[in-house]
Amino acid sequence: MCVGCRGRARQTDLLRVVAIGPELVPDSTTRQPGRGAYLHPDVECLELAQRRRAFARALRVAGSLSDEAVMAIVHQEN
Ligand SMILES: [Zn+2]
Repeated sequence: MCVGCRGRARQTDLLRVVAIGPELVPDSTTRQPGRGAYLHPDVECLELAQRRRAFARALRVAGSLSDEAVMAIVHQEN
């Protein structure tokens, strides 16, 4: 499920995102250990997820997370 639009999708269509410290990091190889959040590589889904603080919830991280690295990937894909 996408943490932004909450739409169902195949995991291969979604971008895995992990938190490393206060930063959201795209894990396109899905090899990073720990919790991952899945997101459509889409600007709208990223913005929705941030507005809802869905990453913090999905990744069980307190506080705000920087999405610059994910934003860069999302822009690249579109
Ligand atoms: Zn989505």
